Amino acid sequence: MYDVIIIRYGEMGLKGKNFKKFSLALQQDIKRRLAGLLDYQLDTTYGRIFLRLNSRLEEMPQEAVKSLKLLPGIVNFSPALSLGPAADLEKIAGSAAKLVARELKQNSGTFKVETNRANKDYPLTSPEISREVGGLVLRKVNNSLTAPQQELTVDVHEPDILLELDIRKDSIYIFTRRYQGSGGLPLDSAESALLLLSAGIDSPVAGWQMMRRGARLNILHFHTPPYTGEKALEKVRDISRRLARFNGETRLFLSQITKIQREIQKHCQSDYSITILRRMMMRIASRLGASKNLQAIVTGDSLGQVASQTLANLRTISTAADLPVLRPLLTLDKQDIISQARDIQTYNISIRPHQDCCTIFIPENPITRPYPEPTAEIEKALPVEELVTDALEKIEEETITADL
Ligand code: ATP
Ligand code: MG
Repeated sequence: MYDVIIIRYGEMGLKGKNFKKFSLALQQDIKRRLAGLLDYQLDTTYGRIFLRLNSRLEEMPQEAVKSLKLLPGIVNFSPALSLGPAADLEKIAGSAAKLVARELKQNSGTFKVETNRANKDYPLTSPEISREVGGLVLRKVNNSLTAPQQELTVDVHEPDILLELDIRKDSIYIFTRRYQGSGGLPLDSAESALLLLSAGIDSPVAGWQMMRRGARLNILHFHTPPYTGEKALEKVRDISRRLARFNGETRLFLSQITKIQREIQKHCQSDYSITILRRMMMRIASRLGASKNLQAIVTGDSLGQVASQTLANLRTISTAADLPVLRPLLTLDKQDIISQARDIQTYNISIRPHQDCCTIFIPENPITRPYPEPTAEIEKALPVEELVTDALEKIEEETITADL
C-alpha cells in the first residue's frame, strides 16, 4: 500500500547557510534510527526527505513509526503512495479509494480531499483536482462497501479522513496519515552539553529535551560506593543506552564522591548537606565539562518538586558552577515528565529500585531556603579545592552504545 515515506522538517528549513549541514545531520540520524527496520533509498528535494521503500508495505512497522516520532528535527511524516508524474484523475482516485477504504471505520465516516499542486504544469487547478478525485473516490468506496448503507460522506470542515494529494514534478503522492514528530532540531545543530544523570525519572527526560534541540550529550553520574552498588550503576548504564538511541555513541563519566559525602557529614551542618553536595557536584561537572569543550550543565530539576528544588536552592547550587546550569524541566509537572519518560522508554528503567547517593545521606530537615552567603560560610569547613581535584582525578570514563 505504501512505497514511500515523506518526512517534513520544521525550523531547520529556516537556517539559511547552515541548512545543508543540518539536513545532512538529520539524514544521518534517520539512517541510524531506521537501520534494520526499513529497506529504502533516501532522497531529498526542496523541503522534504523521501524514504523510497525497496518493496511496498501494507502497513508501516510500528517500530519505525516510533523511531521517527522521536527523532529530533522531524515535524511530521506520512507513509504514502507515489503514482508517477502523469497519473490521471482516474488512476489517482483508484489508488486513493483503497487508502480511504482502509481508513474507514465500520463502513462509515466522512472525508475530504486536499490538493497541493507544486507542479503547475498539471492540467487542473488544486480545487478542481480535489473536487474530481473526491467525487470519484466517494463513488468507488461506496460501491465497494458490503454493509447495507453507503456510508462514506464528505465533510469539508471536520473530516474523519483527510486524503491529501501532493502533485509534484517528479511524482504525484497520495496519503491519508500524518504522524506527529517531536519537532526540534537535528543533533549537533547546537553545541554539546554535560547531562547530570541520576538513576531517577527526571534527568533522562532533561537529556532528551536537550537532544531534541540539537545538543549532543556527554553524561556524568555521581556514585557513592560502597553505599551505592553495582545495581545503581547498571541502571545508569541502561538509561544511558536508551539515550544513546538519540545521542549516538555516548561518553559516560562516573565520579566517586564517597569521600566528599563523608567530609560533608563530618564538617557541615546537616540541613545544608544536600545543597553543599550539589554544589560540589557542580564544581566537578564544570571542570570536567570545560575540559571536554562542553558548553553547559544540564539537570533534571523541576521547580518545587523536592526541598532541594526551591528557587533559593537552585540559585545557591548554580552559583558554585562555572558553566551555565540548564534545567529544561523546570516548569514541567511530574505527570508531564513521566509521560515523556514513557515516550523515550526510560521510565521503566528509572523506576527499578536502587540506592541513590543522596537518599543515604538525606538529612531529616533539609533547608529549603539556603542562600549563597551562609552556605559558602558553612562550606569553609571543607577543603573544597582538594576534594574537587581528587574527584576529578578519579573519574572513570565508559563508552555507551545504543541498545537497539
Ligand atoms: P531525578 O529524577 O533526575 O533523579 P530528582 O527529582 O530525584 O531527579 P534530585 O535527586 O534532587 O531530583 O536531583 C536533581 C538533579 O540533580 C537530577 O535531575 C540530576 O540532574 C542531578 N543529580 C542528582 N543526583 C545525581 C547523581 N547521583 N549523579 C548525577 N546527577 C545527579
Ligand atoms: Mg534523584
